[in-house]
Amino acid sequence: MSNQPDSNDRPPWQASILTLFPEMFPGPLGRSLSGQALESGLWSLDCTAMRKFGKGRHRQVDDTPAGGGAGMVMRADVIAAAVDHACENEDTTRLARIYLSPRGTRLTQQSVKELAAGPGVLLLAGRFEGVDERVLEAREFREISIGDYVLSGGELAAMVLIDACVRLIPGVIGASESLQHESFEGGLLEHPQYTRPRNWEGRSIPDVLLSGDHGRIAQWREQQAQALTKTRRPDLLDPKSRDK
Ligand code: SAM
Repeated sequence: MSNQPDSNDRPPWQASILTLFPEMFPGPLGRSLSGQALESGLWSLDCTAMRKFGKGRHRQVDDTPAGGGAGMVMRADVIAAAVDHACENEDTTRLARIYLSPRGTRLTQQSVKELAAGPGVLLLAGRFEGVDERVLEAREFREISIGDYVLSGGELAAMVLIDACVRLIPGVIGASESLQHESFEGGLLEHPQYTRPRNWEGRSIPDVLLSGDHGRIAQWREQQAQALTKTRRPDLLDPKSRDK
């Protein structure tokens, strides 16, 4: 069964981004699958340039951290003004509010599915040392991390999240079949893939894949997926840690 949401006439999935660098978008999202889907209206993208809401002649968006320390922190009042402006469009108020942050809950295929099935996301891309905590509370942002490392800004993280969601929107990937056997579906990594030429640098495609026996092929793929997962990601086989 496909894991995609089945409504055909839902409004485009919406990605709204609060950023200091709107010119970074759509960037890679404007290419290939996500780019074609954007062009054909399956999803929409808009950016709110937070600099516009900055303070003073220099449109300052950041200030020194309370309590001292290195770096700068993005101001709550500036971010709130940008959020409120974005949410003047009623459609944007329905979106899942997410601050991309290394402190956040880890993005997983399960959370991607949930976000892709909803109306879309309002993403806050931080810069500097991050954002004033109070705006996260006051404007009800949840925090999502794309992995245990620190990027210099939330824009790339926003692109990762959007790309992962967009490919699950019905109609973006032609045959829903190709989503079904992917890594993380059924809690496994994907089996190895091969294509022509049949022999390459002395390496051949496993015989079973050339046998035409679909039952044996399916069984081989399942075994390979199990073995790979056991070696590389045993945590995925542990029901307690699955989809955390
Ligand atoms: N001082 C912050 C900390 O230690 O948690 C890191 C700030 S980082 C230099 C600047 C911005 O990049 C963050 O506000 C966040 O939006 C984004 N960012 C960095 N790493 C990220 C990650 N792993 N996942 C999502 N966003 C990330």
